[in-house]
Parts: sequence; structure tokens; C-alpha cells
Amino acid sequence: MPKIRKILIANRGEIAIRVMRTCKELGIPTVAVYSEADRSALHVRMADQAYFVGPPPSRESYLVQERILEVARHAGADAIHPGYGFLSENASFVRACEKAGITFIGPPASAMDAMGEKTRARQNMIQAGVPVVPGTTEPIATQEEALAYAQKIGFPVMLKAAGGGGGKGMRKVEKTEEFDSAWRSAKSEALNAFGNDAVYIEKYLDKPHHVEIQVFADQYGTTVHLGERECSAQRRHQKVVEETPSPILTPELRAQMGEVAVKAAKAVNYVGAGTVEFLVDAHRNFYFLEMNTRLQVEHPVTEWVTGLDLVALQIKVAEGEKLPFTSTVPPRGHSIEVRIYAEDPARNFMPSPGKIQYLRVPGGPNVRDDSGVFAGFTVPNFYDPMISKLSVWAPTRAEAIARAQRALSEYVVKGITTNTRYLKAILAHPEFAGGDYDTSFLTREHTVLL
Ligand code: ADP
Repeated sequence: MPKIRKILIANRGEIAIRVMRTCKELGIPTVAVYSEADRSALHVRMADQAYFVGPPPSRESYLVQERILEVARHAGADAIHPGYGFLSENASFVRACEKAGITFIGPPASAMDAMGEKTRARQNMIQAGVPVVPGTTEPIATQEEALAYAQKIGFPVMLKAAGGGGGKGMRKVEKTEEFDSAWRSAKSEALNAFGNDAVYIEKYLDKPHHVEIQVFADQYGTTVHLGERECSAQRRHQKVVEETPSPILTPELRAQMGEVAVKAAKAVNYVGAGTVEFLVDAHRNFYFLEMNTRLQVEHPVTEWVTGLDLVALQIKVAEGEKLPFTSTVPPRGHSIEVRIYAEDPARNFMPSPGKIQYLRVPGGPNVRDDSGVFAGFTVPNFYDPMISKLSVWAPTRAEAIARAQRALSEYVVKGITTNTRYLKAILAHPEFAGGDYDTSFLTREHTVLL
């Protein structure tokens, strides 16, 4: 397979820049795309070429497949890196790239199809012998059927959108009386967010941990896991802080989960970078939650402890190279990432877009700031308000926490409100320091953390 000569990055913000940095190191020219709201964005300035793709709403710009492909052809890009979000998990886009003779840097469309809808993924995983969260494997047709099923498996249950993502279309139901409103709101939210109102039921696991396994596969069937990420610090089912290694995994459990994650990836003939997400209960039983068929937001913590560049690996795998390892790369030390959002925790985490008047970013040993902004940039209100990911490495977890605190205290953003104080409060919380915090931690300690 020929080497990739030029990469179009079909994304914006920090992840577009993250991908460009590796391209530059590999000597591969980059093409950026941008919407009206991103004319002066950093990813546009950092790319070798940049093309306008449409008005601010992503549906009219970053999500317009034909426009992105047209730019790729025009700019002479022979590959597209989708980042995360936008078109990254869109199987029809992968097929359109194939048709256009452009390499999509990601898994094949068939693997995306197999893992895309949560219900289909659950069926495929059961067939492969991977334990899944107990529940249905088909969307449920009527509310009566759904209620009967919930009563059969017992409350609490989780109603979930089959096409779900980003914590949307998900409702916990504690008892029969709550079922009606939860059912309606899950369905309407699912329809709004995904254009698909199919909902299914999972048993609600009590205070689980979210632990996910990074997998990597080349085109020749070598599939390897690269350890886990603990992502239980969540708000509204969305990750806020991630770390690796997970403080709750024993070496045995890590090996077991890694093996199951590899089995999951192999079952769908996976290629490239992917993440198999699990919920781990109080007895340390683990259950498949979903597979994300792309590079994750939180990939830097894995890069810190393995010393690998996951984007470079994605590009090499897409070029047809073999993985440079055949078994897992043991982690060294500890890494923590915090997500910095333009939002106001004191005002119910309302997004706080606007012009950044002043910006000082942290530095020093073993600190990495994956930022998408600069002083003078106006953070648009059309997209995810995450402006940066701050990640650190240290030999031990305690030192990593101290380093993350230190780095956060160096972060100064003026003009917009950010969640840095909230992040510091999380890192300073005794439950976080203890390491055994579950997915209910941030909600439970809400008032303490504000
Ligand atoms: P999304 O694709 O929208 O991100 P996920 O299925 O990955 O949704 O779940 C996101 C988070 O929601 C999980 O990390 C967990 O905290 C919570 N969650 C999902 N399903 C369950 C469940 N059955 N029981 C308890 N918590 C759950």
C-alpha cells in the first residue's frame, strides 16, 4: 500500500490540531476545513492549506460529506482523518471515501456497522461470548412491553437510545410511576439527537466504574490492547477526568478485560484504534457497554504511559503497516487528564462562549496541554465547549494528582468562564485521592465540588 501523501482533517478545535501535530512530525502536509464561525481558528492557522466548508451549524459544514470529499479532491488529499465526533463514526462516510479512492483513517465501514447501534453491538458481543450489561438486545416497540420487561428484570433500569452517544437519550427509572415520563423523554431526546427514537432497556448497575480498554488492530489481524482508562468521574454521563492505570484494577482483572476487549474487536474484524467500554460493578464483574470506533478524547493518558503516538499508529495502520508490537505495552507511571470547558459550574455548567482576552497555559515537566484556542479567539457557541485537555504524567498516582493540581493552578483564562476551579476541587476530593470513585461520585458530591 502506498504512503499517505496529504491528510485532510475533517474536524476542528483541539483534536484537529492534535492530528496535525503528528502529521507534521511524519512530514505529511495537512488540509484543514472550517466553518464560518472558525475562520480565525487555530486549526486553520496551523494547517498547510485550509478550505471553507459552510455556515456555523455543523450540519451545514463539518457534517456535509460531499463538501468534505470535494475539498479533499480539490486539495489533493489522499486520506481523511475524522478526529472524534462529527463524521468519525459514520459508516456511510467511510463508504463514500472508499468510493472516492480516499483512505479513511479509521476502521472499515463493516466494523462501524457492527458496533454503531448499541442494540446491534450487544447482539454481536453476546454472539462473540463477551459479557454485556443485562437487558434487551432489540429496541422495544411499545411502552407497555418496555414496562413489563422492566418489572421482570426489576427496577432500577436504564432506558437507552439504540443510536445513542454523548450521554443523550438515557434515563434511569427507579419505579413504575416514573416509567411513563422517562420513556417519553428518552424517546424524544433520542429522536432529536440521533433522528432515531429506538430505545432499549438495560439493568441499571449500582455505582459502577467506567473502565475502558484501548485496542489497536492492523490490517493483518494482529489485535492488541493498550491498557485501560478509568473514566468514572462523570457529569451527566459525560467524562470530566480520566486516568490510567485505573486505581481499582488488579493485574489479573486488567489482563482479563484486555483479553475480552481484544475478543470484541476481533469479532467485528476491527482495524485501527478503538475503545471497548465496560462497566465494572462492586464485585468487580465487568460488562460490555459499547465500543467507540475512533480515537477517544482521552487518548493522551494512554500515550503518556505507553510512550506511543496513537495518531501516528493510526496513520501507519491505514498505510498498511504492521503494528510495531504483538502484545500489550506495559504502562509506565501514572497519567491524569482533565477536560477544560468554557462553561460556568456556578450557573449549572452553562456554556460560556465568547472572546478569550488573556490566556496563560501551563508548562513544566510532564505537562501536556492539548488546546484548540488562543488569546483573542472567540469561542463559538455552535460546538462542544471543550477548549483544552490538560494531561500530566508522574511516576505515581499521588504525584500525578499533585502535578495536575499544579498545572491547573497555572491555567489562566480571561474573558470567558471555565471549569478549572471545579476540576481542582475534584482532584482535591478525598474520594478521588482514595482512588475508588464510581460513576455517581461527581453527582453525589456536587455541592462540595462547586
Ligand atoms: P453514551 O454512548 O451516550 O456515552 P454509554 O452507554 O457509553 O452512553 O454510557 C455512558 C455512561 O452512562 C456510562 O459510563 C455510565 O456512567 C452510565 N451508564 C450507562 N449505562 C448504564 C447502566 N446500565 N447502569 C448504570 N450506569 C450506566
